Amino acid sequence: MTGRDDAVAREQAGPARQRSAVVIGGGMAGLLAARTLLRRGVRVTLLERSDRFGGTVDGRVLGGLQLDSGAESFSTRSATVPALAAELGLGERLVTPEATGAWVQLPGPDLQASARPLPNSGVLGIPADPTDPLISAMISPEGARRAAQDGVLPVGSLATRAGVSLGELVRTRMGDEILARLVAPVAGGVFSADPDDLDVDSVAPGLRATMARLGSLGAAAGALRAAAPAGAAVGGIDGGIALLRDRLVTDLEAAGAQLRTGEEVTDLTRTGDGWTVTTGRAGAPRRLVADGVVVATEGRAAVDLLSPGLPALAAERPAPVPGVALVTLLVDLPALDVRPRGTGVLVARGVEGVAAKALTHSTAKWAWLREQAGPGRHVLRLSFGRVGDRPADVGIASDDDVLFSHTLADASVLLGIPVGAADVLDHDVVRWAGALPHAAVGHRERVARIRALVADHANSLAVTGGWLAGTGLVAVIDDARARAGALADALLAGAGGDGSGPPV
Ligand SMILES: Cc1cc2nc3c(=O)[nH]c(=O)nc-3n(C[C@H](O)[C@H](O)[C@H](O)COP(=O)(O)OP(=O)(O)OC[C@H]3O[C@@H](n4cnc5c(N)ncnc54)[C@H](O)[C@@H]3O)c2cc1C
Repeated sequence: MTGRDDAVAREQAGPARQRSAVVIGGGMAGLLAARTLLRRGVRVTLLERSDRFGGTVDGRVLGGLQLDSGAESFSTRSATVPALAAELGLGERLVTPEATGAWVQLPGPDLQASARPLPNSGVLGIPADPTDPLISAMISPEGARRAAQDGVLPVGSLATRAGVSLGELVRTRMGDEILARLVAPVAGGVFSADPDDLDVDSVAPGLRATMARLGSLGAAAGALRAAAPAGAAVGGIDGGIALLRDRLVTDLEAAGAQLRTGEEVTDLTRTGDGWTVTTGRAGAPRRLVADGVVVATEGRAAVDLLSPGLPALAAERPAPVPGVALVTLLVDLPALDVRPRGTGVLVARGVEGVAAKALTHSTAKWAWLREQAGPGRHVLRLSFGRVGDRPADVGIASDDDVLFSHTLADASVLLGIPVGAADVLDHDVVRWAGALPHAAVGHRERVARIRALVADHANSLAVTGGWLAGTGLVAVIDDARARAGALADALLAGAGGDGSGPPV
C-alpha cells in the first residue's frame, strides 16, 4: 500500500464504538447526507473534489450584489426547502417571487408581437384547459382545435405504457403546437432538454396516473397544480440560495464533521465490513477507512467509482449531460423598471436570431435583490445550452466575448428594450459543465436497476444525488436524507448502537 493510511474512525473495536462514514461529493446531496449521518451519531468525513462546497449551488458578488451563480429558487410543491431553511435559521429569509410571472418568446415575423405572458394553470406548461382563450391566443385556430381533442380522445395505453416521453404525451393528447409553444420552452428552461428527451414519469410524477383517472391530460395537469400548495410554484431566500450551503457547512463543522475540499476520490474498495476510500492528491494518495460510504457525486463519477466493485453498473454509466453557460449582467437601465417581461422570458425553439434559452430578470423576480440594486439598476441572467445543441450553437463552449455579445443582443430582443454595452456596469460568465443531468426516457427503470445493484452493499453504502433523484433541490435533498438515513440505520444496527449522537 502506497501513501498514508488514514483510518478515520475505526481505531476502536467492539460494538460500542462510534460508526464512521465517508461522504464523497460536497454538493447539496453530500452536505445533506453528512448532516443526516452526523445527527444519527455517525462520525462523518466529507470529501469534495473542487475548492468549495455546494456543487451547483454557489454564489458570487457582482457589482457589490450577492448573487446566486447556480440554483436560484426551489420548488414549493413540498415543504422540504422551507423546513431545511428554518432548521438552519433562515426561516425569516424565505421569500416568494414577484407574482407577475414569466413570459414566453415564440417564433414569428414580429418578435415583439410574439412575446406572451406564460399561462400558468397546469404543470410544465401543459394547460389545465387547452380551450381557455388565453391558450387559444397562443396557437393557430387549427392548433386550438387539435388541443381541444384532449377532452374527447380515449386515454388508452398512453397512461400506462413504458417509455413515454413528455413530448409524446403532450403531442398525442394536445398536438404539436401546445408542445412547441408552451411545454418545450418550460422544459428547456427547467431541464435544458426537449420534451421528447424527458421521461414523463420522472419530470411529472403522477401525471399519467391522474390522466387515467380523470380522462384527459388537461384535467390531470390542473389537478396536479391544484394539489400543490397555494401561492407561487417556487420560492427563494433573501440573500440567495447559496446561504443554504453556507449554513449547512457552518453547522456541519460546528458539529464536528471533517469537511475537506481539494480531495478527489479516485478509488473506492470494499474491505472487510467497511470501505477504503482513496483520494488522488498528486503524488501522495491518501486512504481513509470507514464503516460506511455515501457516493454523492455526479452520475458518471459515481459509476466510475462504484463499477470496479459492481461491474454490472458500468452499463448504466450515464451519457454525458449538457452544460449550461450563464451570463449575468448588472445594467443601469431605468427603462427596465417597468419589468417589461415580468420575471423573465422562456424561449421557444426556432426564435430567429436568439441563442439564449431563458432570461431571468432577477431584479424583477426578487424584491430583496431589487432593493439592494436600487432604482434603475437591474440584474439579468441569460442561459445558453440545451440537450441536442450542435457544436456550432452558442453555449458552454463559446468564448466569453461571443456569449457577452449574444447576451446583449438576445436581452434586447427578449425584453423589447435595447441593452447596450454602455448600459452594463458589470457582468460575468459562469459555466456549468455536465451539471444538468436530465431524466431521459426510461429513467425510472434505469434508476431502479442501479438501486438494485447497489442494494448488494446496502448495509454500508448509499448512493444519492441529482442524477438518480432528479433535477432540483427538493428531489436532491429528500433523496439524500432518505438514503443517508437508511445507511445510518444499517450502520447503527451493525454496531448495536443506540443512534444517539451530537446534534447538528
Ligand atoms: C445553472 C443551474 C441552475 C439551477 N437552478 C436550479 C433552481 O433554480 N432550483 C432548483 O431546485 N435546482 C436548480 N438546479 C439544480 C440543482 O442545483 C441540482 O439538482 C442540485 O444542486 C444537485 O446537487 P448534487 O449534490 O446532486 O450534485 P452537484 O451539485 O453536481 O454536486 C456533486 C459534487 O460532487 C463533487 N465530486 C464529483 N466527483 C467527485 C469525486 N470523485 N470526489 C470528490 N468529489 C467529487 C463535485 O465537485 C460536486 O461538488 C440548477 C442547476 C444548475 C446547474
